[in-house]
Amino acid sequence: MKFTRKDFVKGIALGTITLPIWLRSFMGKNYANQSVSETENRVSGKKYRWKMVTTWPPNFPVLGEACTYYADIVKAMSGGRIEIRVYGGGELVPALEVFDTVRTGGAEMGCGASYYWAGKSPATQFFTSVPFGMNAQQMHSWLLWGGGMELWEELYAEFNLVPMIGGNTGMQMGGWFNREINTIDDLKGLKMRLPGLGGKVLEKAGGTPVLLAGGEIYTGLERGVIDATEWLGPFHDYMSGFQQISKYYYTPGWHEVGSVLEFTINKELYDSLPDDLKAILKAAAAEASNWCFAGMETKNAEQLAIMKAEGVEIRSFPKEVLDQLRIYSEEVLEELSATDPRSKKVYDSFKKFRDTISPYSGITEKLFFERIQK
Ligand code: CA
Repeated sequence: MKFTRKDFVKGIALGTITLPIWLRSFMGKNYANQSVSETENRVSGKKYRWKMVTTWPPNFPVLGEACTYYADIVKAMSGGRIEIRVYGGGELVPALEVFDTVRTGGAEMGCGASYYWAGKSPATQFFTSVPFGMNAQQMHSWLLWGGGMELWEELYAEFNLVPMIGGNTGMQMGGWFNREINTIDDLKGLKMRLPGLGGKVLEKAGGTPVLLAGGEIYTGLERGVIDATEWLGPFHDYMSGFQQISKYYYTPGWHEVGSVLEFTINKELYDSLPDDLKAILKAAAAEASNWCFAGMETKNAEQLAIMKAEGVEIRSFPKEVLDQLRIYSEEVLEELSATDPRSKKVYDSFKKFRDTISPYSGITEKLFFERIQK
């Protein structure tokens, strides 16, 4: 029998699913030391009715669904003490106002990706993905065991926010092109929708990054505003119809190797909560995050098979092109690090962890995928 997210929520509610030991000990430890007001809060069953604003289009498959899933788990685990209503981008506030809305208390929670907030602090980009960075499992390892989460919390505290890992897109695809990319010179003069640091790398290769929101990409390609685009992976890209107007689907997504998504909560509000609710909010994020990442991998894999059957032409960037893009990427990251002390602090930790984990991945996953798996 397939275990679904509904079963999980039901299991928590019925008590048939046991919470992890770390969570029980965390909660138990804090029950012992809790203040009188916390006890009163729990006994009185104070109810919270929150809004979560997101950067995703309303009802966006997988990424938006993970927000609804999160709200379901929090409600079940807290016995209804916290109820969260989820809003798609533009429903309550525009997608790119999520950060400020949650920070200033206009909504209690948010969901999106930290690199959208590079304008607030360029260092935020390291907590989603940077070109030639780390894949999903390496990113989550850095965040949870390598000191990354503390740096993320420290940075967001300056903005009155608490961040939590909210999922991962998995490795993205390199994008849709109407010309073959055989040498680095084929990127010259190319107008491509490639946001953030990836766009800066494209600039070094002589291309022009164009900033377009997800919903504007198709028309941009159709009208020649852009020659090429990246978006997510097979599942969401196919939904957008890029295969109808592009010749080649390139891989890998060197610019987003494993983009971490985020849940955010207003810090002042979070700090005022009793410890059991704090633990529930974090444990629910871990569950929703895992579910989201697994969903992305599954949906993308299923869609790839459909695309291949329909004759979509999948190409891989030649090694020489990737090698040169990697050199440009390191230049971009070093330049950022040299001009922004907060980015330097985060990048130093990021680099140190990547240097430690890469050789390990090299003798495990890399070998496995190269030699064993089809
Ligand atoms: Ca992307």
